[in-house]
Amino acid sequence: MKLKLLLISLITIMTTTQAKAQTAQNDKAAPIAIAIHGGAGTILKSNMTPELEKAYHAKMKESLEAGYDVLKKGGTSVEAVQAAIMIMEDSPLFNAGKGAVFTHHKTNELDASIMEGKTLNAGAASGVTTVKNPIKLAAEIMYHSKHVMLSGEGADTFAKKQKLEIVSADYFKTDRRWNQLLEVLQNDPDATALSEDKTDKHANALNYQNTVWPDDKKFGTVGAVALDQHGNLAAGTSTGGMTNKKYGRIGDSPIIGAGTYADNNACAVSATGHGEYFIRAAVAHDICARVLYKNITLQQAADEVIMQKLVKMKGDGGIVGLSPKGQPVFSFNSKGMYRGYIDTDGKVYTAIFEE
Ligand code: ASP
Repeated sequence: MKLKLLLISLITIMTTTQAKAQTAQNDKAAPIAIAIHGGAGTILKSNMTPELEKAYHAKMKESLEAGYDVLKKGGTSVEAVQAAIMIMEDSPLFNAGKGAVFTHHKTNELDASIMEGKTLNAGAASGVTTVKNPIKLAAEIMYHSKHVMLSGEGADTFAKKQKLEIVSADYFKTDRRWNQLLEVLQNDPDATALSEDKTDKHANALNYQNTVWPDDKKFGTVGAVALDQHGNLAAGTSTGGMTNKKYGRIGDSPIIGAGTYADNNACAVSATGHGEYFIRAAVAHDICARVLYKNITLQQAADEVIMQKLVKMKGDGGIVGLSPKGQPVFSFNSKGMYRGYIDTDGKVYTAIFEE
């Protein structure tokens, strides 16, 4: 009888130890990570107040944590990318959603895209004017339409049909962006009436009205890349485009392969910068292709494209990327890039300037 009891206890101990080892292995085998950018450009510390710097770091941390939380709970990388980007779209600090730059025609026209690394499935929206969170629309297009990219009124209509949150055009306006447009228009030979009321009734935003902004007027797009517990990568990008854009101009952000790309075999990339160059250089896809075909690291591939190819073309900007193992990577040829990550060890990092 004693022997039987001893045997049972032994078996129980062995099974528990085995189960524990299995769990540890599973934990190890399921790294999660997320990285973001909030735009690249001439971002100078000398122009940045400590309060504003703090506000940017805090918002980036909030965005990273929102995405990481999704990943921790077993959510997909596509869901995490959306969660992270929505925080920045809702913040007037970034050129996406609320706080988007103005077009020449005094409107806010938003672009976004998202891509799933497992299936190479993708969705994108360009020139939308009423969708509060364009990144959600990109995901709806990816999952619930037959198409990859929808544009303008059609995209806004699809958003309504999918019951996404719709806002009035005024929602996106902020003083900062309105004044930037007025300034740029002064040197634009195409400029029409500058007679409009210079104060923005809708601006408000966190008492930033009298702030001197540390970056140039051009960029500020947001993006995220994530790796989930299932080993799947995703990338997404959202933007208002570039101040004073004309005639329905679309940049790289909603273009799969230029502003956004994800392939589980190579990497996930989201770009920010002068879109015309990023389209011509097929930046996001080129980086992933170099990883695949040249068998080099993601950092090397990103630097080849951002620091060599783009610099030769005179294209400003940068990228955030994630390797299939969850290694975050940044590369930018501008003075700064709002950026951050939570890596596979759970380490949180945010930065703005060159280091
Ligand atoms: N890439 C965006 C565009 O050209 C701008 C940005 O990154 O801020 O529309």
